[in-house]
Amino acid sequence: MNVHSVEEVRKMSVVAPATGKVIAEIEETPVYEVPFFYQKARESFGNWSGLAISERIRYLKNLKQLMVDEMDQIAKIISDDTGKVLTESIVADIMPTLDAIDHIIRHAEKVLSRKKVKTPLLLIGKKSFIEYMPRGVVLVISPWNYPLQLAMVPMISALAGGNSVILKPSEVTPLVGKCIEDLFRRSGFPEGTVQVAHGGKEVGAAFTAGKPDYIFFTGSVRTGKIIQQQAAKDLIPTTLELGGKDPMIVFDDANLDRAVKAAAWGAFTNSGQVCMSAERLYVQKSIYGKFLEKLKKEVNSLQQGTDLDSDIGSMTFPGQKEVVKAQLDEAIERGAKLETGLKPSDWKGDMFLPLTVITEVKQDMKIIQEESFGPLLPVVPFDTEEEAIEYANGTVFGLNASVWTRDKAKARRVASRLVSGAVVINDVIITVANHGLPFGGTKESGIGRYHSEAGLRIFCHEKAIMEDMGFMKSEIQWYPYKGKYPLFLKLFQSYFAEKRDWLNFAKNYIALLKRNK
Ligand code: ADP
Repeated sequence: MNVHSVEEVRKMSVVAPATGKVIAEIEETPVYEVPFFYQKARESFGNWSGLAISERIRYLKNLKQLMVDEMDQIAKIISDDTGKVLTESIVADIMPTLDAIDHIIRHAEKVLSRKKVKTPLLLIGKKSFIEYMPRGVVLVISPWNYPLQLAMVPMISALAGGNSVILKPSEVTPLVGKCIEDLFRRSGFPEGTVQVAHGGKEVGAAFTAGKPDYIFFTGSVRTGKIIQQQAAKDLIPTTLELGGKDPMIVFDDANLDRAVKAAAWGAFTNSGQVCMSAERLYVQKSIYGKFLEKLKKEVNSLQQGTDLDSDIGSMTFPGQKEVVKAQLDEAIERGAKLETGLKPSDWKGDMFLPLTVITEVKQDMKIIQEESFGPLLPVVPFDTEEEAIEYANGTVFGLNASVWTRDKAKARRVASRLVSGAVVINDVIITVANHGLPFGGTKESGIGRYHSEAGLRIFCHEKAIMEDMGFMKSEIQWYPYKGKYPLFLKLFQSYFAEKRDWLNFAKNYIALLKRNK
């Protein structure tokens, strides 16, 4: 009897958050299948890793073309599954994925090819190289806020390097997980090279414990820590892309109208469910009142809804509403003032949360210290550059930040002092859109970087290779040591002297060679 047949396949209902309607059912991957996924991934690894990078790139080109052809359908799936407006699906989820594929198509061969590096003179006669060897099976665990980009970019980076990939997408957006599976299958990737497992944290945990060769995780700090602990047991390397509490610092010499629009977009795009959204706004005292008035006007002009012209969609994950509510309740209870939006007891009950600008907050409130991942924007006045930096660095996070001023020197000075994986000057969030830049956090925002060259290389072992022609019978540092110490002493003193003493270097080197006879 097949022991598996007694197990019931569990189904996940897919609810569209914007409408509350059930729009699909998806079968969960049973955890007993985890070993079969790994077996298949390991079997396919041999062939896939044996392909030239240029051949792997051909598959990425197919994938890109398919996504370009079906962009509108993919955008609709993302919007149904997340509640975000179509414009955001296409601009902030599909476009960055396509741009990453493009970048990898153009750069992977150069970045991942064997490289010659210099060999020091003391190692005369040898050549040195670096090779990039795929790690094996890469497990990607992805979140729900940008469900396409945050799954596909690590997947394609790992694939370009010759790894096979298992994706466990978020159970909150399973339709996008299905869509990704379908896109890879229809792009013709060889059987087993890309597999997608559906389900929630039990499924994620089972795959994490299944001993992949690398784990690439994007999600909450809490889960990131659990995964890192599990990975440590088997010494599995990881990249963790976690939360953010990004500060936006506006000095009094900034372009105010632009900064106001940026604050509204930076805080409320995707209903604030962005790890790099502007979550804290620090405004210099001299312009604070004026800035706040303009900001309120801007925020009140934004349209929430699902139609094509709406600015802001719904929240995606019901549980996130509770996080936002708890932060807001605490802030209001402790004397904070709502400038826009409603107190949680007056919320309507659907997944569209009011866009909330809040003032008179204290640095130790949850709304300042913890990630909101919702449409909340606390605004705090500051006096000096020093104070702004202190505020900005005053949380456990450090993902992105922005500095607003017309003074280039001041902007760069402040940017250098922010403990942050990225800083944008006179714009928000946008570093993520340049795939040539590294992406990742400091402090509890994560471990490691991807995008850029680093994003391809993390999925490979960097292998050092040295070649010797093998003609000489022995090396000077090999046995016997008899009589060699004084010669080495003079050799190194002449070699490492402030001004290299070539005569003594050559004399002692030759003497050492003679000792080998
Ligand atoms: P977010 O709310 O930002 O999506 P989570 O950390 O809850 O953050 O989830 C991110 C991803 O991690 C999801 O795919 C989820 O199913 C998965 N996940 C959650 N808990 C675990 C766990 N203990 N082990 C492995 N994966 C997990």
